Amino acid sequence: MTTTPRARFAPSPSGRMHLGNLFAALLAWLDIRALGGEMLLRMEDLDPDRCKPAYLDQLADDLDWLGLDWDLGWQAGKVAYQQSHRTAQYEAAFETLAHRGLVYPCFCTRAQLHAADAPNRGDDMPVYAGTCARLSPEAVAEKLKTRRPAYRLRVPDETIAVCDRHYGLYQENLARDCGDFILRRSDGLFGYQLAVVVDDALSGVNEIVRGHDILSSTPRQRYLQRLLGFETPAYAHIPLLMSPDGRRLSKRDRDLDLGELRARFGTPEALLGWLAGQTGIAPDTTPRSAEQLVEHFSWDVIRAHRENITVTAE
Ligand code: GLU
Repeated sequence: MTTTPRARFAPSPSGRMHLGNLFAALLAWLDIRALGGEMLLRMEDLDPDRCKPAYLDQLADDLDWLGLDWDLGWQAGKVAYQQSHRTAQYEAAFETLAHRGLVYPCFCTRAQLHAADAPNRGDDMPVYAGTCARLSPEAVAEKLKTRRPAYRLRVPDETIAVCDRHYGLYQENLARDCGDFILRRSDGLFGYQLAVVVDDALSGVNEIVRGHDILSSTPRQRYLQRLLGFETPAYAHIPLLMSPDGRRLSKRDRDLDLGELRARFGTPEALLGWLAGQTGIAPDTTPRSAEQLVEHFSWDVIRAHRENITVTAE
């Protein structure tokens, strides 16, 4: 039996889509359309402080305007593909892990975490020192009287490898490079790693294209998939887009959000053709629809970019 390739758009509705998100969405779409597979749209709105309902419709509208269509998933008024409505599924996975003794409460404050931990991989994400993993049951019971804990997954001293279509072999020793990580925050919200693994598995996603900034999460996700008995999807992490002054494009670059870009380029063909020419997907910046770009798409073109890609606004 052959399985239909299925990919996903997984935007966080914490702002309008920007050029970097568009590049990831375009490659995910071109890849799955070239494979003849299905696309799903899931709104990653776990964090109510960062995500605003108005952005949900806006994101869907921008994808629609671009011609990056999806076959299943989120639609206005339907919440099955909205993470904020999927707590029961995350709860079930969390309980499975907890019953196996792999989860423990963590009472550390943010300040303690930063003081006690070594910096990890040069970014600001610390490797957890394991302070609360060593608490006695009595100490845990005492602390639970006054504090709501976060919950962490106990990770083994084991190297987990992922074969990425673009970056090749990527591996991390979970204990050394990453540490016991958060499954559930102290405010009760489930963490990104657990939610994304549960969602991708339960919705049959087997093809994941996303930004290079998420590559370092993949060994943790691979490990969760193993613990929960899920298949591992194929991964392709893609180079990030940078501005000519060496900054990574982000939602803070207002001039590159879809509102501005739609106004500046006027048509989806003009915008997509320009982006395709800038990033090497197409040989030049001739206006082209998403559909027309499918014939130009090949991972070989992206492979030429080991590093991030600099784009220059017109
Ligand atoms: N929601 C994440 C983002 O917008 C993507 C997470 C993922 O692709 O796994 O950056």
